Amino acid sequence: MSCDFLALAQPGVQKLSPYVPGKPVDELARELGLDPANIVKLASNENPLGPSPKALEAIRAELSELTRYPDGNGFSLKSLLAQRCGVQAQQVTLGNGSNDILELVARAYLAPGLNAVFSEHAFAVYPIATQAVGAQCNIVPARDFGHDLQAMAEAINEQTRVVFIANPNNPTGTWFGPQALAEFLAKVPESVLVVLDEAYIEYAHGSELPDGLDYLDQYPNLLVSRTFSKAYGLAALRVGYGISSAQVADILNRVRQPFNVNSLAQAAACAALDDLEYLAQSRKVNDDGMAQLEAGFRELGLNWIPSKGNFIAVDLARDAGPINQALLSEGVIVRPTANYGMPTYLRVSIGLPEENSRFLAALRKVLDA
Ligand SMILES: *Cc1c(COP(=O)(O)O)cnc(C)c1O
Repeated sequence: MSCDFLALAQPGVQKLSPYVPGKPVDELARELGLDPANIVKLASNENPLGPSPKALEAIRAELSELTRYPDGNGFSLKSLLAQRCGVQAQQVTLGNGSNDILELVARAYLAPGLNAVFSEHAFAVYPIATQAVGAQCNIVPARDFGHDLQAMAEAINEQTRVVFIANPNNPTGTWFGPQALAEFLAKVPESVLVVLDEAYIEYAHGSELPDGLDYLDQYPNLLVSRTFSKAYGLAALRVGYGISSAQVADILNRVRQPFNVNSLAQAAACAALDDLEYLAQSRKVNDDGMAQLEAGFRELGLNWIPSKGNFIAVDLARDAGPINQALLSEGVIVRPTANYGMPTYLRVSIGLPEENSRFLAALRKVLDA
């Protein structure tokens, strides 16, 4: 090749590493010659219940329309979300996953010479979205693995346009309460957009986490992002949303792909929002599974980071890489977190009771080996 297309990529992109997803079940099955049915995947914070039957029914009803483009304005889903969130439809932005919302924010508000503030151990998409548009990552050391909101507010400078915060955070599961959020928002200059990533908020329902939507009226520089990928069990369809001021939503709407959310996703998301029984069951399975894993870790003498998500980071107190490899050989897929600056930890998504047991038994075996 005569041209070096790495050197030609913009500097921020040259420095990026691709996002590392959880290993797909079929890939591990191929590599190890295992039966996919015997593999347990607790690596991507997916809902272990399988999709809501109501969502599946809505998808089936939509199949005959696949020759048509989806509703580019997402009328039905936006209306329903606006109603549920107590906002105007013009304040809703739909995304191809909430990942898309994070990227739209970066594309609209970040550029070379500007920066985004986020925490150490934060979601891996924040640096990707930031560097992809040539902006700087302004990374603030974490405190007990969680966001140090005071330090994050102090890290904001003239060039800061966006702050990404996740509550609860992935991969740590750490969270902050309403007072911490209120104090933080009061300190952030009104010209800095605060992206409050609430991908797991449905699991924290009724606990001490703030509901970001409560702060929108007071803070027009706040955007709350949420997803159907986790508690609503629709990760494969890629659908999420942002709630913000109508002005910010208008800006995001200018840079998004015209048909960024497909029609099956829109239909399924509407149905999932109405399936309160599924959501309640998702929470119950998660609460029970979290207790099961914590009890298992206690028995194994392992420490963990208390989590409000549908996953938990456990400290193996040694390099977790070889243990992860050994778990894979046992047909158990979890997520190593070395690339999040947590080399002795594994992040385990909460599964069904029997999946959690399989994982705990495999972990005991490989730790004893
Ligand atoms: C899973 C996750 C998302 C959402 O991903 P999408 O599937 O794109 O909606 C966003 N933020 C965090 C912190 C996550 O863990």
